[in-house]
Amino acid sequence: MSSLVWFRDDLRLHDHPALYAASLRNEPLQAIYFVTPRQWEKHDLAPIKADLMERQLNQLGAELAALGIPLTVFTVDDYQLLPKVLLNFCQQQSITQLFVNRDIGEYELQRDLAVQQQCDVAKIQVQWFDARCVFAPGTVLTGSKEMFKVFTPFSNAWLKRLMAEGYQVWPKPMSRGEALNWLPVQFAYPKVDSSAWPIGEDHVLARLRDFCAEKVDAYGEQRDFPATAGTSQLSPYLALGIITVRQCLAAMQDALGQLPFERGAAGFVWLNELIWREFYQHLLVAFPHLSKHKAFKPDTEHVRWLWDETRFNAWCEGKTGYPIVDAAMRCLKQTGWMHNRLRMIVASFLTKDLHIDWRHGERYFMQQLIDGELAANNGGWQWAASTGADAAPYFRIFNPTTQGQRFDEKGIFIKQWLPELAAVPEKHIHTPRNWLTVFQPQNGYPAPIVDHSESRAIALALFQR
Ligand SMILES: Cc1cc2nc3c(=O)[nH]c(=O)nc-3n(C[C@H](O)[C@H](O)[C@H](O)COP(=O)(O)OP(=O)(O)OC[C@H]3O[C@@H](n4cnc5c(N)ncnc54)[C@H](O)[C@@H]3O)c2cc1C
Repeated sequence: MSSLVWFRDDLRLHDHPALYAASLRNEPLQAIYFVTPRQWEKHDLAPIKADLMERQLNQLGAELAALGIPLTVFTVDDYQLLPKVLLNFCQQQSITQLFVNRDIGEYELQRDLAVQQQCDVAKIQVQWFDARCVFAPGTVLTGSKEMFKVFTPFSNAWLKRLMAEGYQVWPKPMSRGEALNWLPVQFAYPKVDSSAWPIGEDHVLARLRDFCAEKVDAYGEQRDFPATAGTSQLSPYLALGIITVRQCLAAMQDALGQLPFERGAAGFVWLNELIWREFYQHLLVAFPHLSKHKAFKPDTEHVRWLWDETRFNAWCEGKTGYPIVDAAMRCLKQTGWMHNRLRMIVASFLTKDLHIDWRHGERYFMQQLIDGELAANNGGWQWAASTGADAAPYFRIFNPTTQGQRFDEKGIFIKQWLPELAAVPEKHIHTPRNWLTVFQPQNGYPAPIVDHSESRAIALALFQR
């Protein structure tokens, strides 16, 4: 008789309820992980994120081995094949108990249901734990027991529960015996170097603590300026489950002395962003059609988006002639990460200025992002495209020039990513065309591919229709 912990998007030892519960049992304990290349490809897993996952899995494998817990890594093409391989392994290893943290996403839920059914037949007990969110999806509901469809009431209800119930952080498991060897694995999946992002829980937890000690207080004033390192840059680690939102709460509480329950309290704005993350995860479970890239607001499925490959490519390559959009897109392509304000600007530009279906942008982001995460990415795109769970009307359309002027006034971020604009004086940096025509006629930086006020009028007409 022995137990097995199945790791998925939870590549950590701390605050891992499934691992912790399994470690309390007085019987041999093993761990398992599945590399699923074809499934990842279908889900547009970015090669840079795959690299980060591989590095963190190897780190986790070594740390588990040091605790005497062997980790076995299987490669199976997709989720369909996975339950059978898992069952065979359990039978070969006399596993009677399987411990798993619940996943979200329609395909993942179907996979887990198939695993549960096979285990039932084979008399293997499966214990499921809720670890992704502070409160399990489906448990923060309106008075009539429905999922909230807009953020603010969800956030109020979530905060009320946090105040009443608090939260729990599970400890790292104790050693299970002699240390074992760990042989590093390599994923059979395309990879792009992610070494700019250090891995390991100790490093990431230290980064979280530093952010809470030094920056969480000023986050509200700093978070919108991409040239300033005012945000935590923890998203890749949260997406892979190297740290959890509960650990973020604990670090904030340590740094501030208490959690900021009230709007206006120090740290509240950051807490509110973490609640956005929870909101989108809860939404994905409550509305499974979101996993299939359907619009949250069904009537917006009738918007006749306009496909234009040349314009889409110009957006992807950072060649739209709008400096803030182009700098953001080039930053994404080169680093796999983009600041939140910029994500909002480029998503608004693609959907409301180029009138391209948000699903193309959502997909491109997933293919590039080191923190690509279905719930947040889908939520962010649908918010920007006005098809999502958002109280604001469809006529919220960002002006890319004034957004640049407000949030990168001196063009510091723009010049970092668009070296061809290095000589453009500050006052022309957001609309460089006229200056370039006079002073650098050979400069290849493109003229704006659309006129914003015309595009805006077209977007309004598309929605009104
Ligand atoms: C179009 C679009 C696509 C996005 N795609 C993703 C994605 O694939 N993965 C992802 O993690 N985030 C996504 N976001 C949300 C947000 O942009 C990133 O989480 C944030 O930029 C990460 O930077 P940070 O870690 O410094 O965040 P901080 O500002 O320090 O926030 C802390 C954490 O809260 C969470 N968070 C913050 N803002 C949001 C938000 N608006 N929605 C959901 N969670 C949030 C993230 O986990 C983040 O790490 C997207 C936003 C938009 C507008």
